[in-house]
Amino acid sequence: MTRDEIRAQLSYYQDLGVTEIYRRTPTSPPPPMPKPKPKAEPLPSLAPVGDTLIQILQDIGDDCRRCRLCEQRNKIVFGSGNEQSPLVFVGEGPGADEDEQGVPFIGRAGQLLTKMIDGTALKEGISITRNDVYICNVVKCRPPENRAPQPDEMEVCGQFLFRQLMAIKPKAICALGGTAAKALLGTKEGVTKLRGNWQTWHGIPLMVTYHPSYLLRPYSADAKRESWEDLKKLLHFVYD
Ligand code: SF4
Repeated sequence: MTRDEIRAQLSYYQDLGVTEIYRRTPTSPPPPMPKPKPKAEPLPSLAPVGDTLIQILQDIGDDCRRCRLCEQRNKIVFGSGNEQSPLVFVGEGPGADEDEQGVPFIGRAGQLLTKMIDGTALKEGISITRNDVYICNVVKCRPPENRAPQPDEMEVCGQFLFRQLMAIKPKAICALGGTAAKALLGTKEGVTKLRGNWQTWHGIPLMVTYHPSYLLRPYSADAKRESWEDLKKLLHFVYD
C-alpha cells in the first residue's frame, strides 16, 4: 500500500468515527496437539510357545511369497531328517536338484555331505547316518543362478529357520558355509576364521564348517581335511 493509499484509508476511518487504530501483533501458531502415545504392544514372539515343525510348515504355506525368491522357485525346501535330532545342519539355500524335489542337500554337494556324515560316524564308531540328523537351509527357496541369498531374503525367511531350531532344540548346530554362519551368528567373519571352534546360537553350541559345495572344488584339499576334523569334533560332542 502506498503512503497516499494509507492516508486515504485513515481519513475514511476518521469519517466513520474510528479514532484508534492498532496493529495486530503476529500471533504464534498454536502448539501442536500432543500425539497419542502408541500403546506398548509386546513384540510378536519369534517362536510361539509349543511351536512344532508342522506348525511352521503350515505357516510358510504352499505358496509363500514373502520374499522375491518365490518368483523362480519350483518347490519350497523346508528341511528333512530326524525331527527330534540332537544335531541340525544348516546350509545356505536350495540348489537346482533340491528345488526340483523339495528336499535339501540331494545334489552333488548333498551327496558329499551324506558321505561325510555317514563316513565319519562309521570311522569314529558312532552309530548314526544322515537320516538321524536334521538338515535345512537359511532360505527355503532357490536363489536364481545359485547366487547367495540377499540380507533381506535371509531376514524374512530366517524367521522360519529360527523357529525350526527353537522347535527342535538340538544339542548342537552345524553351520555349513559362510552364509549360514552369517545368518546364525550375525558375524562378518569368514569360515576359515570361525571353523574349528565352538560358537553359540541362543545357548546352543554351534560349529561352523565349510559348505560341501566348496569342498567339491579342486583346490580345497586343506578345507576337506579341516571339515572332516570339524565333523569328528561335532559328532563326538553330540553322540558320545
Ligand atoms: S525364501 Fe522363504 S520367505 Fe522367501 S518365498 Fe521362500 S519360503 Fe517364503
